[in-house]
Amino acid sequence: MIKLHNTKTRTKEIFSPIDAKNVRMYVCGPTVYDRAHLGNGRPVVVFDVLYRLLRHVYGADHVTYVRNFTDVDDKINATALARQKAGDARPLEDLIRERTEETIGWYHADMDALGALRPTHEPRATEFIKPMVAMIENLIASGHAYAKEGHALFRVRSYKSYGSLSGRSVDDMIAGARVEVAPYKEDPMDFVLWKPSSVDEPGWESPWGRGRPGWHIECSAMADELLMKDLPEDQKTFDIHAGGMDLQFPHHENEIAQSACAHPKGGFANVWLHNEMLQVEGKKMSKSLGNFFTVRDLLDQGIPGEVIRFVLLSTHYSKPMDWTEAKRAESQGELAKWWARTRGVNAGKIDTAFLNALCDDLNLSQAVTELRRLFKEEQWPELKASAALVGLLSGTEQAWSIAYSYDAARNTYFVDMGATLSGSGQLGESDSRVHELIAGIIEEMRKARIEKNWALSDALRALLTNAGVKVMFSDGSIAHEIGPSFEPSKLDFLK
Ligand code: AMP
Ligand code: ZN
Repeated sequence: MIKLHNTKTRTKEIFSPIDAKNVRMYVCGPTVYDRAHLGNGRPVVVFDVLYRLLRHVYGADHVTYVRNFTDVDDKINATALARQKAGDARPLEDLIRERTEETIGWYHADMDALGALRPTHEPRATEFIKPMVAMIENLIASGHAYAKEGHALFRVRSYKSYGSLSGRSVDDMIAGARVEVAPYKEDPMDFVLWKPSSVDEPGWESPWGRGRPGWHIECSAMADELLMKDLPEDQKTFDIHAGGMDLQFPHHENEIAQSACAHPKGGFANVWLHNEMLQVEGKKMSKSLGNFFTVRDLLDQGIPGEVIRFVLLSTHYSKPMDWTEAKRAESQGELAKWWARTRGVNAGKIDTAFLNALCDDLNLSQAVTELRRLFKEEQWPELKASAALVGLLSGTEQAWSIAYSYDAARNTYFVDMGATLSGSGQLGESDSRVHELIAGIIEEMRKARIEKNWALSDALRALLTNAGVKVMFSDGSIAHEIGPSFEPSKLDFLK
């Protein structure tokens, strides 16, 4: 039994799908103008866990997950224009396509590295212009929208429940928000469904002239097409709509207004989920504040994607969180230990307490506590199966060779080589992997010494010495000798 905290009702509810044979969820995806920052990775990883949980409960073939790409955006146009101004002679459309293609490629590579499954559908807004135009026409016909000066606008006051998701009244919103007053608006709260494009901007023909859609209509139209298309009007409802807290207002309010007015007998989404923000010094990580680093930055530093995933999962999705080096180190050390113990182990049963935690509104911090318990109790098959359910310990090749955690109080490194070994103590001296492993440790030691991190260098040396490998430093280089008492299995333990 899955319980989810529904933003719409502000309560934790038992989740019961409309059709258990086809559980449907929609998550607002990225605007593809640049690399994803770590904050963008949070909803991806959190809702990937939800997707995996739903697949586990209802069956892998009975869940439809849609996450869109917003590929119409002024920042994309700006990059394309800059490339054209810099001398690229290709038409603007081609340059825009090139930019969105390359960004989507990066996004896939980075989110794959975080262990996120690809959604069932990843629609691009530009491929759904027709349904968007049709939906706007429908809204105009029913009096919920109007056209003026090449624009189409949603008439906010025509939708009585506007603001109910975020719990605000229209008048509060006008007082509190920075609403744009424009000559083509009847009311300052009205928002754009369609806007005109200049020759320098991508555009499509429409009843209101050449132009492009507003951001909110994209999600309404794509959810319609991919989750509710052939359903009768009174069944135009799907199960779960999710995204970051920053999208609750106005984006999600606007999506609801559009879809509820286009299908007054439908319910749009039953459950709304919002993840809290990844923060940097108390502020939302965002491109506009400049306080961001990308997922790729972290991967390029050699941090395994699974470690990033683990850090992102260790805090409940409804709480703000920071990325810290301490969390990184701790998670890396812990995962390495888990890997060392579960390599070659066949997955057993998923632990009940772990599954219950997950089903309780994705209580991942509790779920991780249960994984720690399984580790302590040496229940390796259960640890492996449970971790795999949330996308951990299940990859074939780990990108890291050596993991360590640091105990600041004792200035001590705990080093674990286990992650690189398959099975423990099974390797002969001739096994080339042993030599690779030793070379890897020496390389880490070399890096540590350049950074004058003597504590780490000593810990790595102690590890080798203990296994019977002599280490000698001279003139900035490191030599090693495999001694007669060499015991490769001793590389596979936590010191
Ligand atoms: P964007 O490309 O900015 O529209 O964001 C894509 C997704 O990332 C949306 O679901 C946002 O809510 C989410 N997001 C953006 N910044 C953060 C952050 N700092 N922490 C968590 N989620 C975020
Ligand atoms: Zn959306």
